[in-house]
Amino acid sequence: MVLGKQGAGKGTQCVRLSHHYVVPHVSTGDMLRAAVKQGTPIGQKAKDLMDRGELLGDELIMEMVAERLQESDVRARGFVLDGCPRTVAQAEELAGILAPFDLDLAIDIEIHTTQVLRRLAARRVCVDCGANYSLSSPPLINWTCDVCGGEVVQRQDDTEEAISRRLELYEIQTAPLIEWYRSRNQLESVPGTGSPDSVTRRMVKVIEIRRQRGSGFG
Ligand code: AMP
Repeated sequence: MVLGKQGAGKGTQCVRLSHHYVVPHVSTGDMLRAAVKQGTPIGQKAKDLMDRGELLGDELIMEMVAERLQESDVRARGFVLDGCPRTVAQAEELAGILAPFDLDLAIDIEIHTTQVLRRLAARRVCVDCGANYSLSSPPLINWTCDVCGGEVVQRQDDTEEAISRRLELYEIQTAPLIEWYRSRNQLESVPGTGSPDSVTRRMVKVIEIRRQRGSGFG
């Protein structure tokens, strides 16, 4: 599971880790954006809250995650979890869902707020597959996704107001999870600065060290 402020590079790094370890990438943000696009009941509830940078209720999120974590690809291979838990209540619920197993590891991508503000202002995403781009690394052809051909746009919650609300909620609701996982010996932290490649290398390194120690990894 990957933790970090908005703009720390969670989405980008989770896609990379899921390719590296050949496991599904389970992203609550991507699932919710797909639900909004399809106009499902969850999507209709989620849209306004997401646009304003507010968090959705723990119950709705954990029901959605519990359902996803029961699917056969996840059960067979494991998963990289992105965007959940975001509150201590969600972390407790997640531990219950996974029992008698547990998360192998929570990785916190550390980054300074001034840097995430710069990154979020430049961030662009594919409306169809959620692939991440930025003004400095756009898709090859005219804001058309390199992966799926979808349209690449600025996220509706990457406005100045919603960004500051999301960062505020991160500090209040999500940052306590760092201590929560540390106290359970399930946390590693990596600096989120530098190129995406260098951050991925740091993450793979801490995972491999844990694997060799055998702590937690089934
Ligand atoms: P993300 O793509 O992870 O930044 O998520 C986008 C938005 O989806 C968030 O700002 C929240 O509104 C909502 N969201 C995603 N995951 C969660 C979660 N675990 N708990 C509550 N809200 C969430």
